[in-house]
Parts: sequence; C-alpha cells; structure tokens
Amino acid sequence: MSRKKIIAANWKMYKTPEQSRQFMDEFVPLVAGHTRDEIVICPPFVDIAAVVEKARGTNVEVGGQNLYWEKEGAFTAEVSGEMLVGAECKWVIIGHSERRQYFGETDDTVNRRLKVAAEAGLSPIVCVGEVKEEREAGVTGDVLRRQCSRAFAGISARKAAKMAVAYEPVWAIGTGLTATPEMANEAHQLIRQEAANVFGEEFAQQLRILYGGSVKPENANQLLSQEEIDGALVGGASLKADSFSKIVKW
Ligand code: PEP
Repeated sequence: MSRKKIIAANWKMYKTPEQSRQFMDEFVPLVAGHTRDEIVICPPFVDIAAVVEKARGTNVEVGGQNLYWEKEGAFTAEVSGEMLVGAECKWVIIGHSERRQYFGETDDTVNRRLKVAAEAGLSPIVCVGEVKEEREAGVTGDVLRRQCSRAFAGISARKAAKMAVAYEPVWAIGTGLTATPEMANEAHQLIRQEAANVFGEEFAQQLRILYGGSVKPENANQLLSQEEIDGALVGGASLKADSFSKIVKW
C-alpha cells in the first residue's frame, strides 16, 4: 500500500504577515513542480491570509494550528472550523504537545476538536506522543494507545477519512534529539493498530502517520524512507525556506 507522504510545517508562534510573505516568495519556487509529497504550511492565525494568497495556484496547502469545538459565540480569541475553511485552510493541527503542555489540552478536548474539524471538512493532523519519563518507564505503548483511542472515540471511519496522525515524541520536539527509525516504526505500527481497532483494517492501511521531532534536512531522508513513516511534521526547520524545501525534497 503506497500512501502519499505529507510534509507539514508547524510555524508555532513565529513570523509576522510580512515575514510569511517573504518566506513564501522564496519557498514556492524552490518546490515548484514537486508532486511526490503533499506540502502543507500551518502558520499562526494572523498569517493565514498572507500564506493563502501566496499559495493560491501552487502545490502548497495551508492549515491552522488549532481550532475550537463551538461553531461561533462568545469565546474570545478562539477560531472555528468554519472560519478556517472560510480562510481557505485545508488542514488543521490538533493536540500538539505544546497545547497539551501549556494550554490545558487533554485527550478529551482533542476528541472534541477532531469531531468538529471532520465536520467542517478539514483534514486534521492529530498529534500524539510520549514524554521522556513515559518512554523511560516503558509505557510509551500504553500512552499512545490511550491518546489514540480517546481522540478517535465516537467518530465514524467515514468522518475520520481525511485525518492524519502525527507521532511526536515530546522529548524530541525542539531538542535536536530524534527518534531512531526503529523507535518511530514501532510507534507508528502501534498507532496503526489502534486505528484498525477503532476504524477497521482498511482505514488503518490508508491512514497517514507522520513523524515529528527535530526533523531537519540532514535526517529527513533516513526517516522518510521508512515504510511506516508517511510524512513529517516539522517545527524549527520549517521556518527557513531553504531548509524546509530540502526536507520536502528528501
Ligand atoms: C513540532 O513543532 O511539531 C516539531 C516537531 O518541532 P521541531 O521540528 O522543532 O522538533
């Protein structure tokens, strides 16, 4: 089964609209004509319009970094799925470890966001991954199974069809440490098994599971050539057009 890989940039809280336009002016020509992989950029909300404008008619797609589960209302500073769609986003990141660590995201809120993202027709990238202490205690498998089963609860295979999952070991995010291909393969197999349990075998075989955690031009090829790794979610190394284009062309 060959799954088209997704190379996604998570810009976190970096770049102004002007800096986003400058990035796109440099980046788009570097990846022009690249069709082997899907290319996605998830900028901060205020930069979405700038990135969308530069991405129109190119092979670059755009996503949000989060969304709220209500459609609209008195929820200051939140953004709905419909708003992201209206802003021409195709993708949305859900449950990034920084949201879990600093902003009270739980498996339950990940599930609520996933339901509305699917409802809005977005392609969600659901992030899961263990912290260092969990890996050292040998409970990585239990953590991934719990995060996946709770995130996927109450969602049909049809609704979840556009979903991708990103395996991001928290100890590898922004630290320069990377999971070995063996560690990633093992985690991805486990996530695929959990998806099979919930959504069925056929769904699981089509599910794209990205790896994230200090992916850079130097290690992209080794990671992305693994059968089980269906793409990358890239933080730090996605902020420069040159390095992100090298990862896209792994
Ligand atoms: C991320 O933000 O999802 C990420 C993986 O960051 P980094 O590539 O910087 O480790």
